Amino acid sequence: MKKHLETKLSHLQDFATIQDQYGASHFPIYNTGTFDLKKQDGEKIYDYTRSDNPTREALENLFTDVENGAGCVCTHTGIGAVSLLFETVLKANSEVLVEADCYGGTFRLLKVFQGKYNIKVHFADFLSEAELEKILKNNKIDLVLCESPTNPGLKIIDIGMVSVLAKKYNALFALDNSLATFISQRPLDMGADFSLFSTTKYISGHGSVVAGAIVAKTKELADELHYYANAHGRSQNPMDVFLISLGIPTLKIRMKEHQKSSIMIAEFLEKQSFIKAVMHPALKSHPQHKLATYQMDYIPGVFCAEFINKDFAEKFIENTKIFGEKCSFGSPDSRVEIPAKISHASFSKEELAAIGISDGTVRFSIGLENVEDLIEDIEQALK
Ligand SMILES: *Cc1c(COP(=O)(O)O)cnc(C)c1O
Repeated sequence: MKKHLETKLSHLQDFATIQDQYGASHFPIYNTGTFDLKKQDGEKIYDYTRSDNPTREALENLFTDVENGAGCVCTHTGIGAVSLLFETVLKANSEVLVEADCYGGTFRLLKVFQGKYNIKVHFADFLSEAELEKILKNNKIDLVLCESPTNPGLKIIDIGMVSVLAKKYNALFALDNSLATFISQRPLDMGADFSLFSTTKYISGHGSVVAGAIVAKTKELADELHYYANAHGRSQNPMDVFLISLGIPTLKIRMKEHQKSSIMIAEFLEKQSFIKAVMHPALKSHPQHKLATYQMDYIPGVFCAEFINKDFAEKFIENTKIFGEKCSFGSPDSRVEIPAKISHASFSKEELAAIGISDGTVRFSIGLENVEDLIEDIEQALK
């Protein structure tokens, strides 16, 4: 029987390799370092949790299934999934093509790889097919990496278009699916070789853990991920797997609510005189609004508003009572932050300007509070 996503997400136990003898509703947490080889005679043998653990495997099986991949590694952090991607795919002198508007931690990591391992990084605007093709044609690109929606610029990248180009020039293509998540879009179905994500955000959904995952399209790539995850010690510990799993069954209903409230708030902000522009892919004013609604089933509750100046933006953040000044997104509590100051502090002012982010840009992550309370809070903060 072919099941829908939300049915699968409500039966995590079905993804465990080991079925519990008592019919426990949730798979057990095997919080152990080692397993006794003499006591096992099953098809699958476990020896050491860094390489394999039944609890982590249940989550890896789930992510493999819902992303339509061939295998997955759950990692200790989301940036650990990006590291594992680089450790698996790149070698000295490799070349990477990356969307200029990328997560601050990914940007920092690229600088590390550039400096220490002589990796050549090409940054580009992935909205321009011509620019991408030119770089792919004139260089030997090993890996193409982007997010969609991008963060904090909220550009919508045509995943199918990038997949076709990457294939044409024999590069692997990885999509960072942290923002939209698999509830909203399945990058591997659109031609990507890897879908990776921080489970810290919407997937765990409660701001109580940092973790990540990477899913590969083919068995060969999945085997390589597992090899390097063991070699570099990237795998996630079983207690964190448990924390992540608690949020998964409610992902869809949470995402619907994040979407609904964030649209109401973005529309409210768009009408205010102290706001220059609002970037929310669900609004008609967004330049890739059509692609956003075509490519994603749900539009996440993260958006940016550009205030008339920096002082106004800072005063606004200081005056809000419900919104915390915090990085990260996808939690039940609403957050605001200035990317230039917090999440994207590793970018220079010029690099931020190139992706349309100024020091008056505020990123919102809308939580699960009552939306009228949030609008009232915004109104009072602006007085
Ligand atoms: C947060 C984030 C990461 C890194 O995840 P952590 O869990 O914070 O390590 C990577 N990519 C994107 C798009 C993110 O938003």
